[in-house]
Amino acid sequence: MYVLAPYAVTEANSRGRQILEAAPTARGEFQRDRDRIVHCTAFRRLEYKTQVFVNHEGDLFRTRLTHSIEVAQITRTIARALNLNEDLAEAVALAHDLGHTPFGHAGQDALNACMKDLGGFEHNLQSLRIVDLLEESYADFNGLNLMHETREGILKHCSPKNAQLLGDVGERFLQGRQPSLEAQLANLADEIAYNNHDVDDGLRSGLITLEQLQDVPVFARQRRVVEAAYPGISGRKLIHETVRRMINLMAVDLIEQTRGNIAAHGVATLDDVHRAPKLVAYSEAMLPELRTLKVFLRENLYHHYQVLRMTDKARRIIQDLFGAFMNDPRLLPPQYQVMARADTPRAIADYIAGMTDRYAMREHRRLFAVGEIH
Ligand code: MG
Repeated sequence: MYVLAPYAVTEANSRGRQILEAAPTARGEFQRDRDRIVHCTAFRRLEYKTQVFVNHEGDLFRTRLTHSIEVAQITRTIARALNLNEDLAEAVALAHDLGHTPFGHAGQDALNACMKDLGGFEHNLQSLRIVDLLEESYADFNGLNLMHETREGILKHCSPKNAQLLGDVGERFLQGRQPSLEAQLANLADEIAYNNHDVDDGLRSGLITLEQLQDVPVFARQRRVVEAAYPGISGRKLIHETVRRMINLMAVDLIEQTRGNIAAHGVATLDDVHRAPKLVAYSEAMLPELRTLKVFLRENLYHHYQVLRMTDKARRIIQDLFGAFMNDPRLLPPQYQVMARADTPRAIADYIAGMTDRYAMREHRRLFAVGEIH
């Protein structure tokens, strides 16, 4: 029987929803949040948004959707091992990338630069904006009216200035309090997922090689374990057997270190979690291993010239679109023209951030390519 830890988030210690609703009949409140996220428009768009590789580059690479599902899988596994609220942790994991622009971080950086003196753009804040405001699904309210703890988990970081504007979910940034363990966990599971699947996708694309990865101890060691157990193993099987061991190693390390931290800080209630320092963490031994892996990925994959060519193109597409709409907001689709009456740059940012990679490229052609009619 699965028993929640006394410091897990529950419906009883939750701060609930902003707008009161009748209790669900056949599921819990956090299950309902998870279900609302899976059914929302922004979630479906994740299928056609870039993680590292642009969506049309190949059918085998991760997209934001498959990335989010992998994050949810890792999150659930660790949440159960730590007796935390799996439904909440899963909801946060599935929603964590909803606010991402097309073309991954290049898109976000470009949109942020366009919005620099106009209120800024931050994908994390945009995820919250989607679930709080932009989704149009329910007759009684805008957004998804999620539980406080789900919204708190989605808002991973926030400037003091924005925190003041955000009310209940902004408070903790001003008070220096931590979010729930479920939220802390979804954040680190995101990192476990992308560090490992970027190794896998990087190898699959041919942009990085197994030989290069011999310089990354956490990979090289797991590879040796696989080769000792299966002499002569090669190709996809060697890669997957190695990567799955890395994921397991990081997840187990996180579980053990977190258990130790919870005990060391005498955490007994949810309030203790908020007051303590960050409790979900890797061991001291794991941290340099992860640093080496991240540096490797940055230097060899994210900064590979073929990836940089695509991110440079992405930056120009976002800048061009933003410039064209700012120059003449009448070019926006009608529903965004209505939003633009209140705040033109924000309506443009909402429109661009909601685009999938292929939609942004098509919209760019419609606006800029000579000879395109519609
Ligand atoms: Mg992510």
